[in-house]
Amino acid sequence: MAEQSNILPVLAPLSGVRVPLSRVPDPVFAQRMVGDGASLDPTSSTLLAPIDGDVVQLHAAHHAITLRHPSGVDILIHIGIDTVTLRGEGFTPMVRLGDRVSAGQGLIRFDLDHLACRARSMLTQVVVANGERVVALQLGRGELEAGRSLLFSLTLNSDDRSAAAVHRGDQHATKVELPNPAGLHARPAAVFAEAAKHYRADVRLRFQGREANGKSLVALMSLATAAGSVVELVARGPDAREALGRLAELLRQGCGEDLQAARAEAERRPSLEVERAANRAVSGELRGVTASPGLAIGRVFQWRRGALQVQERGADPASEHQRLSQALRAAERSLRELQVQSTDTARGAILAAQQELLQDPQLVDSALALIDQGKSAAYAWQTATEQSAATLAALGNALLAERAADLRDIGRRVLGELLGEVTTSVQLPEGCILIAEDLTPSETADLDRQRLRGFCTRGGGATGHVAILARSFGLPALCAIDPQALQLADGQRVILDADRGLLLTAPAPEQWAQAERDVEEAKQRAQRERTAAQQPARSADGQRIEVVANVRHAADTADALAAGAEGVGLLRSELLFEQRSSAPDEDEQIAAYAAVARCLGQDRPLVIRSLDVGGDKPLSYLPLPREDNPFLGQRGVRLSLAHPALFCTQIRAVLRATQGHRLHLMLPMVATLEEFRQARALVAEQAEQLGLAMPSLGIMIEVPSAALLAEQFAREVDFMSIGSNDLTQYTLAMDRGHAQLAQHADALHPAVLRLIGLCGDAVKRNAKWLGVCGAMASDPLAVPALLGLGVRELSVEAPAVAAVKAAVARCYLDECRALAQQLVELDTASAVRARLSEFQSRAHAARVEESV
Ligand code: PEP
Ligand code: MG
Repeated sequence: MAEQSNILPVLAPLSGVRVPLSRVPDPVFAQRMVGDGASLDPTSSTLLAPIDGDVVQLHAAHHAITLRHPSGVDILIHIGIDTVTLRGEGFTPMVRLGDRVSAGQGLIRFDLDHLACRARSMLTQVVVANGERVVALQLGRGELEAGRSLLFSLTLNSDDRSAAAVHRGDQHATKVELPNPAGLHARPAAVFAEAAKHYRADVRLRFQGREANGKSLVALMSLATAAGSVVELVARGPDAREALGRLAELLRQGCGEDLQAARAEAERRPSLEVERAANRAVSGELRGVTASPGLAIGRVFQWRRGALQVQERGADPASEHQRLSQALRAAERSLRELQVQSTDTARGAILAAQQELLQDPQLVDSALALIDQGKSAAYAWQTATEQSAATLAALGNALLAERAADLRDIGRRVLGELLGEVTTSVQLPEGCILIAEDLTPSETADLDRQRLRGFCTRGGGATGHVAILARSFGLPALCAIDPQALQLADGQRVILDADRGLLLTAPAPEQWAQAERDVEEAKQRAQRERTAAQQPARSADGQRIEVVANVRHAADTADALAAGAEGVGLLRSELLFEQRSSAPDEDEQIAAYAAVARCLGQDRPLVIRSLDVGGDKPLSYLPLPREDNPFLGQRGVRLSLAHPALFCTQIRAVLRATQGHRLHLMLPMVATLEEFRQARALVAEQAEQLGLAMPSLGIMIEVPSAALLAEQFAREVDFMSIGSNDLTQYTLAMDRGHAQLAQHADALHPAVLRLIGLCGDAVKRNAKWLGVCGAMASDPLAVPALLGLGVRELSVEAPAVAAVKAAVARCYLDECRALAQQLVELDTASAVRARLSEFQSRAHAARVEESV
């Protein structure tokens, strides 16, 4: 085709049918945010170059490519919609970045049938990515034949200055001084990367001669910025100006970090280097940083992770891409499942953060690039994660070093998928103190706590996920331990004094004697607390508060009772329904509920929640249509009402299994009175058919509408229990599993407390009772607030029973009520936490004084 000086013909890169951009089911293209051009519905499967030019961009997922014509015009071709999520599966590039190609030359081969089943749409967009150079765009006509038909032609501006500007690209840059006390560490970096991903523009951050992809959390953290670092923000591409403005502002504001709190934390916490410098070589004393307090005596057990057998050379890049993408998806699925099953909030947040890392563009891109060089998927992934982890660990910044453990953890999880090796559990000898280079959060969670007395790691940090887990297990632990610890002999007896950050390898006889006395005393204190926990909980002024437990089955129930729980405040019945191909029948359900009831006996309360699935917890045998917003769709009681046979079978089983017991039946996710009334009618019908009395029937308060109408609900229900996990999520509009929102989705937010207060007032006026069964009930800090708001039942995780009972025993209810009035007037969750900490310290001191 003849090319006039200022006319640029753009050929069809594929055969097929032309489709106007406005009909593409992606607003980014339909609204021409990327640029003007055309779309086509392809019938061929080799993408041909529509113009002569250089390959200036080839996406790592191989679904998009940009060619730059000698005139400076950039033509971007995007195969399919949302095909980036396939991470290269089904695409084979035929060119490399920087290649010069001629119109009609093959660029990317793809498997049309395979993609058609997986992609949202196969519509392929051909757009001008830098429109300033173009005066007019004229669409061609008729059917499209790849490499022959005209898709559209461009009339170019002949102004040389404009051509030069285009060639440089639409680039904008600015400098910003970071206000974050620890620079762009994990949380602010995650917020920035997430915001940057909303723009088509390529976003880079430059600092001290290094450059990071602004959309990659790992790359941003590796810049190792600090408080006051001046970074250069560069945006290049179609929406660069807009991206620059918004992202620069985000950086100036601290990327969502609570700067005041972070400053206080930074002052409190020395850097890893300072901490390591403080490792004084006092003979027989190895210093580390307290990850979890406590004292233990035990024998050294050196643990080294076995090297995985990874083959370096791969098969052809297309199949290695496919293997990696399948393994990433499988790892993501398993993390998601673990997160849903996790009843431990700390572990849930860790799993959510790791899912984010699995999608990090720098990690995935580096692995894909290695595969393109002929490496196997396993080798490429191992190298990419290890390099990033080593970079973070070497930066001398404690916060960043902690994220290295997460990277290594997801590294091994994906390798497990690729190599068919999934178990990482550590075999421990009895009574040991484990010493390791590092531990991943998964390895820590799997440690046999019966055999382990404590652990020390060379890596990690005091706020890392491993430390959080150690604290939740009550295990003394040190991180950043002196490297000499790794040389200690297996079996050597040592004292781990995590309170003072010390591992004592050669204590004097009097130190042994003192440590033995202290360990014994701590044991007795724990025993006293456990014994006290066997007594019914009472506030300091004698008010009975029920401290009960959240359980899933009879085994959990026995553990909870042993820990001092006074009954069950939430039986999550969904466990019976999950991971199977058909619903459990009435008899199977009766057996499960009766086992819990038997374990409790007839005097302890048993709150059974009807099936709470749907949303994020689908069941394979329920035909649930795909929902755009499953958290706002058919879940909880709505799903039961939509499947009355399933609901009625469960109700019959519950009623039959618990005769003679203190049953309370609880409905999850109730948003309206109509839902409650409909469910109540079904329960009444089943009770009547069985000739049994109507049970005590209550609702969970998980939706703001239910709390706002608490007065109306309180007239009709027998009780209410606050599901603070969901109530927080729906009140603050923050996904409870979202890693970057985790620190803000705080149940102690005054907005959530106000809603709880409405329920407290309503139950009081109507002589009903109010409980809390969400995670906030297990937090001793929250106890005075909840009691002050009118809560009289706390349903907690079994390990929290003793601490929650002790917190109740420190409370005078009139003081709590006055406190609650102040809390609901505060403006942020951190202000509430600060006020509660102050209250807690005063209450503690006052009760100690009273007891002497
Ligand atoms: C809650 O939402 O607080 C609750 C207890 O329910 P779940 O965590 O099971 O959704
Ligand atoms: Mg819930």
